Amino acid sequence: MNNMYRNIPKVDLIIEALCDESLDVFSHREKSDAARDVLDEIRGEIKNLDLNNQDDIVDIEKKLSLEFIVGMAKNRLTKSMEKSLKKVINATGVVLHTNLGRANLSKRAIEAVEKIAGEYSTLEYDESIGERGSRHAHTEELITKITGAEASIVVNNNAAATMIVLAAMARGGEVIVSRGELVEIGGSFRIPDIMKESGAVLKEIGTTNKTKPGDYEDAINENTKAILKVHTSNYKVVGFTQEASLPELKEIAVENDLPLIYDMGSGLLRDLRKYGIGEPCVEDAINEGADLVLFSGDKLLGGAQAGIIIGKKEYVDRLKKHPLARALRVDKMTIAAICETFRAYLNEDTVNDEIPVLKMLTSDIDDLFERARKLEDLIISKSQIINTDIIKTKNKVGGGSAPDTELDGYAVVINIEDMTPDDIEMALRAGEIPIVARITNNQLLLDVRTIRDEDIDYIANRIKEIAMS
Ligand SMILES: *Cc1c(COP(=O)(O)O)cnc(C)c1O
Repeated sequence: MNNMYRNIPKVDLIIEALCDESLDVFSHREKSDAARDVLDEIRGEIKNLDLNNQDDIVDIEKKLSLEFIVGMAKNRLTKSMEKSLKKVINATGVVLHTNLGRANLSKRAIEAVEKIAGEYSTLEYDESIGERGSRHAHTEELITKITGAEASIVVNNNAAATMIVLAAMARGGEVIVSRGELVEIGGSFRIPDIMKESGAVLKEIGTTNKTKPGDYEDAINENTKAILKVHTSNYKVVGFTQEASLPELKEIAVENDLPLIYDMGSGLLRDLRKYGIGEPCVEDAINEGADLVLFSGDKLLGGAQAGIIIGKKEYVDRLKKHPLARALRVDKMTIAAICETFRAYLNEDTVNDEIPVLKMLTSDIDDLFERARKLEDLIISKSQIINTDIIKTKNKVGGGSAPDTELDGYAVVINIEDMTPDDIEMALRAGEIPIVARITNNQLLLDVRTIRDEDIDYIANRIKEIAMS
């Protein structure tokens, strides 16, 4: 055993061997750390060696060669470069896939981020007067123009928007919410919890399935600070149900001099009903009298993660001055992305093409079939042990939006000889660009609605690779 320890190559020799050009990006420190880590690992193995096991002894002796150890150190170095946050291909058909990062930015939004990220900017500077400006000004002008609201502020996400609105408008007082709208969005975002954190007191009214305008009226007292309506974005209560509409609530709010707050969740800007998506529209919410409307930047709007708050100037000014505004503010990259996302909405004719989320949601069914055909052709032209089929599927909007909406779609079914759907699914995830597929009725499906044209070749090649291995 002592002999083995003595045969371990010296660390300097390993570092020297790591000095080839392809490893120039790594510092001397990183190389020496990698070398020492590998040597520690091998010493550990020697220590735990069973001297009666001849196979293990032969195995370790092989590992003591300089070449082997350098190889291990190289692997360690390149592994350390591998990014944890990386591109995946979404073949699930779920457009706003929460685990896969929700909305993809549009080209123009990406370009805007790129232009601003590495430069000084007018983030809080008004170049026309040479003085300090407001970071809210950049988004506010566009957002008010497009939504018709008086004022706007953008914060970190919609959860943050809810938090700051409740804290600024209702701390120490009561906020009335229907029992049918006490939403959990996922993880720890629950309306009652957010309410508690904000310092406002939740006043629950009505029942799970029915809340009438009169229930709101009955609950109002001298401690009431606001009425909150929450869009039940990720579930639907069906059957014997009733909820108070915004116009009904507006009447009550005006009569009692209370602000009406509406947490919309998704923030659909343009009517998508003709594409089968019946989510409420931001503009309607403002027109119907909500004083503050809150929605996400990266759900149906199709932009960056953000919480967009629009409404009465008086209230938005209060939010801008609140200490949480600083804690929840967005950076220049988000502002750039949100501005360009909204700007795309100025052109009704091109917006559905420019915003990837809208493009995917409004895809023509014939185009989806064509994409499935193209993918299938590329796959079967490459191998005989792969068997494919095209089937009709139902696609989801995702991201906790439009839970009862199912869009017609197409998927390519992949069968590979001697592989189960689970085997294929796992192999697809293990490639350089992970492909996230889904298994339905024990079939592996590549749903094409969320697959981008530029990724089709990669997917076809990857499937061929998997079949051949
Ligand atoms: C999604 C959602 C939120 C949370 O928005 P994030 O941007 O994910 O923080 C809050 N309220 C409703 C109704 C939602 O649908």
